[in-house]
Amino acid sequence: MSIDIRNITKRFPGYTALAGISLKVGTGELVALLGPSGCGKTTLLRIIAGLETADAGSIILEDRDTTNLPAREKKVGFVFQHYALFRRLNVFENVAFGLNVLPRSSRPRKKEIRERVLHLLGLVQMEWSIDRYPSQLSGGQRQRVALARALAVNPKVLLLDEPFSALDAKVRLELRRWLRKLHDEIHVTSIFVTHDQEEALELADRIVVINKGRIEQQGTPQEVYDHPANTFVYNFLGNVNVFHGRIRDGKVMVGGHHIEAQEKLNGHEEKTGQAFIRPHEIGVSRIRSSDNDMPGIIRDIRLMGSQIGLELESAGFEHPIEVEIPRETWSNLGLDRGDEVFITLDKVKVFTGDYEI
Ligand code: ADP
Ligand code: MG
Repeated sequence: MSIDIRNITKRFPGYTALAGISLKVGTGELVALLGPSGCGKTTLLRIIAGLETADAGSIILEDRDTTNLPAREKKVGFVFQHYALFRRLNVFENVAFGLNVLPRSSRPRKKEIRERVLHLLGLVQMEWSIDRYPSQLSGGQRQRVALARALAVNPKVLLLDEPFSALDAKVRLELRRWLRKLHDEIHVTSIFVTHDQEEALELADRIVVINKGRIEQQGTPQEVYDHPANTFVYNFLGNVNVFHGRIRDGKVMVGGHHIEAQEKLNGHEEKTGQAFIRPHEIGVSRIRSSDNDMPGIIRDIRLMGSQIGLELESAGFEHPIEVEIPRETWSNLGLDRGDEVFITLDKVKVFTGDYEI
């Protein structure tokens, strides 16, 4: 079932939580809503689910205007950030709950309920846990059961509100991969809310970046990562160096250095601008490979797993330059604190106008 969100606005006393959000989600798509805490993600999900009313705008599910329908008539499954399993029901009873409370006329027979619950627990790889109580499960297991419970009533739309954010990093990573595979099997139209850019990039067919109740950009993970529409998206999608400078003759001047921009910079008039570049896009070597390379000194080295983070100082730059290189490159170069290096800094993305994080 497709979701068509049209110009949704929501104000709380003294605060605009959603300032006109329009978004289409295709049938079977998995879309991530990505944005910082407080940007309106949960409010939007609750409005789609019918748990909250919008001040203006409409929610069309397939071809039906469901804006004023209550939640129970919407056929929407919801998984929340905090485990919302019933503590006094075992896993089987939790998953069967939505079916058991259906009116007698539409309630499946006991045997069918049992088959459906076992099938769903199989999908989330929790068949073994039917007799357990939520307190006997780990956080990740509980969220898998919560997902099975949301799917039990055959929802046409699945809404997931930061379902993994209370779990530790390793489990979170496992579950997002697992959810991606599950979605490939069941293809239920899904909106996944997260404030974690890696989670969104890895999981979603499409990412919608939200800030202060507005959509900043939407596109495939690769589109938003490689071509951020503005400084907010650039910042939010990963670590970035920002250099303030002046734009002149198609180049950016930062602290006396000419840096090449990604795109052709138009206009001859000199203006101020910001150059953005991600730490892993900067090159470091022991020898100067072009006239544009800049000398720098390694002030700090951080182990980041497979990558090494370097903090470089270079004359004319106000702040240290953050660089990330593969661990292997680092050990091949034999770099240490205090060493002199050459920094290759080009293909920066330039934004003019106001800079806002
Ligand atoms: P997110 O899920 O992106 O963190 P929310 O949608 O929960 O953000 O909240 C968006 C903004 O609306 C926040 O500033 C929050 O404080 C405010 N807000 C949310 N719900 C209410 C409410 N019931 N009453 C007043 N303000 C609210
Ligand atoms: Mg939220």
